[in-house]
Amino acid sequence: MSDRYDVCIVGAGISGLNALFVASQYLARDQRVILVDRRPRAGGMWLDTYDYVRLHQPHPMFTAGDIAWRLDAKREYLANKQEVAQHLRHCLEGIKAGIRVTELFGYEFESAEETAGTVRITCRSAESGPVDFAADRLIKAFGQEVEKNAPLELSSPRARSISPDEFDVRGSEIRGSDAPVWIVGGGKTGMDTAHTLLTEQPGREVNLVAGPGTIFINRDQMFPNGVGRWYRGELMSSVFQEMGRRFDGTNEADVLEWFRDNYGVSVTPETGNFMGAILSETEKATISGGLNRIVMDRLDDVADRNGGSEVVCRSGATMPFEPGSWVVNCTGSLMRGEHSYEPYVSTGGRVLSIQNRSMTIPFPAAGNAAYFLTHLLFLGRLTNLPLYAMDLEELRRKAPQYVMAAAFVPLQIYNLSLIAEALPSRQFMKVVSHNGLDLDRWFPLPRRLRAQAGFMLSHKREREHHRRSLDRVAERFGVHCGPVVGAGHA
Ligand SMILES: Cc1cc2nc3c(=O)[nH]c(=O)nc-3n(C[C@H](O)[C@H](O)[C@H](O)COP(=O)(O)OP(=O)(O)OC[C@H]3O[C@@H](n4cnc5c(N)ncnc54)[C@H](O)[C@@H]3O)c2cc1C
Repeated sequence: MSDRYDVCIVGAGISGLNALFVASQYLARDQRVILVDRRPRAGGMWLDTYDYVRLHQPHPMFTAGDIAWRLDAKREYLANKQEVAQHLRHCLEGIKAGIRVTELFGYEFESAEETAGTVRITCRSAESGPVDFAADRLIKAFGQEVEKNAPLELSSPRARSISPDEFDVRGSEIRGSDAPVWIVGGGKTGMDTAHTLLTEQPGREVNLVAGPGTIFINRDQMFPNGVGRWYRGELMSSVFQEMGRRFDGTNEADVLEWFRDNYGVSVTPETGNFMGAILSETEKATISGGLNRIVMDRLDDVADRNGGSEVVCRSGATMPFEPGSWVVNCTGSLMRGEHSYEPYVSTGGRVLSIQNRSMTIPFPAAGNAAYFLTHLLFLGRLTNLPLYAMDLEELRRKAPQYVMAAAFVPLQIYNLSLIAEALPSRQFMKVVSHNGLDLDRWFPLPRRLRAQAGFMLSHKREREHHRRSLDRVAERFGVHCGPVVGAGHA
């Protein structure tokens, strides 16, 4: 290990690897990057999430920069956990062929102090203790900070409460019993769990406690197959632009209803949540056709009463519960916990921080913010561009989830608009064209170019509308959403 690096990146998930990819475009071969992660290798949350998870977008659209997958599969194939983790490792190996990367896996980032001309960083491992080094720039790519779910705490010992992160519902224990399964949570994990159980264990009773219900992006609409890519479906950026035009900072319910009616799909009659997850019509049909019961309520407990057991919901409603039934915690793992506020850029401009307390470009993953903001860092535009940053963690606590979904859209468009104006158009187009997370890449180039031209022609005119929408959301819910103090004035 050296004690001085050109760049330190903390986090080796999709965000950190996108930051590394972009850094590698600006650094010379002999410049040095140090990549730190508390996990033992690259891959981020994909190393630890539940075993039957599938990528919900087609696999080519989940990568670092525009690094191609080596998987021998059709474009529409949804990669599994091992394949995603393997691809992220392949991305790291590919980038390492071009620049010098020191890997510091198994180390926790502890602190950083920015002084004139440098950042002093301390990391620590349980076995080896602390290490200190300096870097010209620090990128904290903590991203989504996905946490593992524990099983739900239920008062009845007759319920077999499990978490998909620790217990594979495809395993012999659950297959060996024919007891009903209660899935708690109607988001992506809930759908993956229901789909896995219903396809692999036909005939099993599976119930869903769906909370407020969830809208999913309709995969058939957004990713039409074969020649349909030329004329069917809609580009995500165009749909976002239309949503942004419709959203005025107060009418999230109408905007989400419009989205659901035109581009959404759902297994539940009500849809109060939207987190940008994707589901196909076929998956929906399998799940809807196979579920025994959908409960539009939140589960509070499984309790033993009057000699029997029952499911107890937040509304007070109860349902009989067969002793020995499985209860699977699918209540979500994104934006959990409390993290202290940190601006996306430090006052000195040497520290870029990608996390939910000051998010700028949230969709389809925090990797998108890492990709664009690392470009701005190296182009010297990070501190003099007044991007709007939204405290998504706070918004999630204070507002119904669909407010956040509606607010995602103007945030993304507003910031991309500022970036498009700040960079020479050829440079902006080059940056966009190497962004492998861009879901528009599913479509043939002529359709993408048309969508890009539409954005370039309208973004300045529409920017003020998006800013007002964001200001209204900030005011209504008392959350921070605006330029980071200090940025935009350097
Ligand atoms: C179940 C589930 C399924 C999902 N499926 C999809 C999907 O199909 N498509 C999609 O686009 N998105 C999906 N997401 C969202 C997903 O979280 C992101 O797409 C993405 O993988 C997150 O990457 P990240 O780099 O932002 O965060 P992470 O993968 O969490 O990586 C952050 C890394 O930073 C490290 N780190 C954080 N703090 C420190 C510290 N102090 N010291 C050292 N290391 C630190 C962590 O160890 C971690 O490895 C899913 C999320 C969940 C929970």
